[in-house]
This record gives sequence, C-alpha cells and structure tokens, in this order.
Amino acid sequence: MSRTLTLLGATGSIGASTLDLVRRNRADWQVEALTANCSARELAALAREFAAKLAVVGDEGCLPELREALDGSGIESAGGAQALCEAAARPVDMTIAAIVGCAGLAPVMAAVERGGTIALANKEALVSAGEVLIAAVAEYGATLLPTDSEHNAIFQCLAGSNLDDVARITLTASGGPLRTWDADRLAAATPEEAVAHPNWSMGAKISVDSATMMNKGLEYIEAHHLFPVGLERLHIVIHPQSVIHSMVEYRDRSTLAQLGPSDMRVPIASCLAWPQRMETPLEPLNLPAIGELTFFAPDEDRFPATRLAREAIAAGGSAPATLNAANEVAVAAFLAGQIGFTRIAAVVEETLQSSNLPPRPQTLDEVLSVDRAGRRQAGHILEKQPVV
Ligand code: NDP
Repeated sequence: MSRTLTLLGATGSIGASTLDLVRRNRADWQVEALTANCSARELAALAREFAAKLAVVGDEGCLPELREALDGSGIESAGGAQALCEAAARPVDMTIAAIVGCAGLAPVMAAVERGGTIALANKEALVSAGEVLIAAVAEYGATLLPTDSEHNAIFQCLAGSNLDDVARITLTASGGPLRTWDADRLAAATPEEAVAHPNWSMGAKISVDSATMMNKGLEYIEAHHLFPVGLERLHIVIHPQSVIHSMVEYRDRSTLAQLGPSDMRVPIASCLAWPQRMETPLEPLNLPAIGELTFFAPDEDRFPATRLAREAIAAGGSAPATLNAANEVAVAAFLAGQIGFTRIAAVVEETLQSSNLPPRPQTLDEVLSVDRAGRRQAGHILEKQPVV
C-alpha cells in the first residue's frame, strides 16, 4: 500500500536525494505537498512529475511564477511563510523536513503539532528550538527520525537501547575541505574553496558549515536534544574518510559504529523505510579499496566553531538559537563575498558575547524572537567591522 509524503525543501540537495529514492519506488509513495523558497519553475516541474497535490513557495513574490508554471496542471499552489506551515500541517504518513536554516522551524513545528512522523534533516530547527521542539514532539505524540547522517547512524547504533547503558556517543566529522590548512591560508579561503567538500555533495550553507566545523557544532547540539545522555558523554572525532558516520560506546566498552557510503540517500532511505529497510542504488562499501580509516582530535584553535557550540549548549537558555542565527548571517555574508572565512566564527562569538541573552525560550514565538534578535546583532557587528 502506498504512503503519503510531504517534502519541505524539495528543490535542495536533500530534496533531490529524497525524490531520487521516491522516483525509484513510485508505487510506494503519493506526494501530497512539495515546497521551495523561490525556485518556482523547478518546484513546478517536480510537482508535475510527482503529481503532487500542492506546491508552495516560501517567498510570496515567487507565487505568480509558480502559478504560471503550474497552469493547466490542476495542482494547487500557495506562497508565504504561513502557507508553508499549512502545507506541513496537512495529514501525511511522512514529512521530510529539508528546508535550510531556522526558516524551516515553523513548518517543522506545524508537522509536529499534528503528531506526524518527521524525517528531520533541518538541524537548525532543533538547534534553535531544542527544548521547545522536543517538548512538542512528546506533547503531540509526533515521531522524529534523525536524517542527518551522524544522528541517523547513532539512531541505528542505539537501536532502542537504554540510554543509561551508553558510555559515550562519538560524532564523526570529515573535517571539511580546509582541514589541513594553516591559519593564514584559512583567513584567505574563498567561498568556492569552502564549498568544495571532499566527500559529500550538499547545499552551499551546510558546505560552508562543514568547512568551518560549525556543522559539527550544530550537530553536537542536535545530538544533545535527540539523545539526551548528557554533554559529558558527547564527543567529536575527525575522520576524514567519512565511512564511519558515528559511534555509540556502551558501558561494557562495546562500541557500535554505522558505516556506509557518503551519500545522503542512505540515511534518507533509512527514514523513508523505517522501521523496515529499502534498497538504494548505491554500490556496496569496498573496504579494501578504502584501505584505511583514520581519526584525529578536532583542532579548536584553527576551527573554533565546535567550542562555540559546546559553550552555547552548556550555557543553554537562548544561546544556541543566537549562535545559529549569527552563523546563518555570517555564512550568508561570507558566501556574498562580504567577509573572510575566519570571520564567520568570530562574528558568531562576538554576537554571543555582546547579546543581552534572554532566558530560555518557552514557545515557538519566543524562539523566533531570539532568532531575529541574534540576526540583528550579527548584522550590527558586520556593519561595524565589515571585512576582516
Ligand atoms: P539546499 O540549500 O540545497 O536546499 C534548501 C531547500 O530549502 C531548498 O528547497 C530551498 O528552496 C529551501 N529554502 C531555502 N530557504 C528557504 C526559506 N526561507 N523558506 C522556505 N524554503 C527555503 O540545502 P540542503 O538540502 O543541503 O540542506 C537542507 C537541510 O538539511 C539543512 O538544514 C542542512 O543542514 C540539512 N542537511 C543537509 C545535508 C546534505 O547533504 N545536503 C546533510 C545533512 C543535513 P529554493 O531552492 O527555492 O531556494
């Protein structure tokens, strides 16, 4: 029997990987809604291909283009932030949350509030709204399936085990394309160099986050909320080959690791088929060809982002949402050529230090208000000291 699916962020990298799997298993899925921000033509083409019932652009200004591209198809269309939430609130068997950034938070919350099953790739939603989102999942009986490869790996290694038996969770990090660069070279890294990830093909924002290591910082916070074993039991190790996606060590010193190709279709397939398994078109792991797996401790002098994330989640309150907001602003400025690479983490740190951080947000509106304040503060910092 086919299942219904809504894909938030259909035109992105995770969206494409998801739709590739759906395309290969068309009889298993009926697409309810597909969303984008402003890639209206691309969204319309996908909506037609997958016979979606609804297509939504987050940017209302792009709705006329979407309408025109859908003309004669009979597919409903809508635009704006509220329309994204309404799309996410429609009843479906599975929601894939793959909007990038805190912009995805309100739609994720809408899916949670109808008690849905949500495959969560949009890590910024969990970083910003942590306790609020997890409390809503419990209150509305929703199910969150971790789609980020590391968290999906941990989810698989835990396989329902008692968290009290967990001695340590280790998130692996490739270290990104600039892992071996010295401080001077890092300061001069260009957006093209930062997004050229050696192992993964991803959207621009997460690619920059991987290069700064903020991606691992965000994932550390995400892991804290998904697998509440305590911060002292959460670790990060650099593993440049990206073959082991994360590990769980139990108190008897048995460590389980999940291995696989560095292709997001593996964790996405794990979520789509959960609690079963499904085929993917990927080649089996060829360990003799890979040869060796290596591991290093993170260097937080050259890549301070993981320290900032650890400090933010340890401080709690509104620090994680502020960290995320400042990072989104700084990454956008870097991609636009306005600031240097090493300035990204500096802007995040200055934002955290100079913000008058309110207490822990208790509601979605309070989280979004902290997010806006963090963006404003990061914007002021960029205006004061735009380049270095
Ligand atoms: P992309 O940039 O490739 O795609 C982002 C998607 O979100 C696009 O569909 C885009 O639409 C839409 N979007 C962007 N801004 C808005 C907005 N303001 N309102 C509504 N929709 C918006 O990102 P990725 O697919 O790489 O990443 C998506 C999420 O998944 C991120 O949170 C990322 O951290 C996470 N993730 C990604 C991985 C990857 O391999 N790519 C791995 C693990 C996690 P449009 O095309 O119109 O701009």
